[in-house]
Amino acid sequence: MSEREALADVLRDLAQTLRHHRDLGLREIPLSRTPFPDPAEALSAQEQSLQGCTRCKLSRSRSTIVFGSGSPRAKLVVIGEGPGEEEDKQGKPFVGRAGQLLTRMLAAVGLDRERDCYIANVVKCHPEKNRNPEPDEVAACHPFLLAQVDTLRPAVILALGNFAAQTLLATKEGISKLRGKAYPYRGSVLVPTFHPAFLLRNPGAEYKRMAWDDLRLAKREYERLAAGRPS
Ligand code: URA
Repeated sequence: MSEREALADVLRDLAQTLRHHRDLGLREIPLSRTPFPDPAEALSAQEQSLQGCTRCKLSRSRSTIVFGSGSPRAKLVVIGEGPGEEEDKQGKPFVGRAGQLLTRMLAAVGLDRERDCYIANVVKCHPEKNRNPEPDEVAACHPFLLAQVDTLRPAVILALGNFAAQTLLATKEGISKLRGKAYPYRGSVLVPTFHPAFLLRNPGAEYKRMAWDDLRLAKREYERLAAGRPS
């Protein structure tokens, strides 16, 4: 790559970052602040900035904004679709039946969901009757999801189900094709797998085996990469 091309690359990345900050509502860049603030403080500020959000129509059907939960120092981030009814009541992601299965799946590879993981969703508000979130709703929430990922800078992202995997990888390919591999994503490695709600609806041994393979892949990547990350 020539020096000119390298400079063009850097400027393109800078422009993308500035647009992302603008979409988050930032109006100035305080240069005196540390570029990597404490993740707990940064996540808490992001959650605060979402309070009372009416950026999309999901605000009309939700009771609570379900921002995310787990360790701000987690090296594994789990991303689901959107809060269900139970999550909407409790304000915490993955606390219903699918969540209980997720907790067991993580524990099966030696990961504690509160200590080792951070869990969030593509959209932070419950879509009525558990319908799929619509493109404008995903777009409205996307800067907040990216801010979470960029704050946590995890080694591994586990994307649960079609919706999370397709949104993050910007593809229309289905989860059955996407799973089984690790993809580079914003400085992390993204491992797509079946959504636990899908596994509950399809209790066959074949899906279970594939999900188990994916989790072991995520754990291998986690062990390979997490040690080199700042704690
Ligand atoms: N399903 C999701 O995708 N997210 C939750 O938080 C709960 C169920």
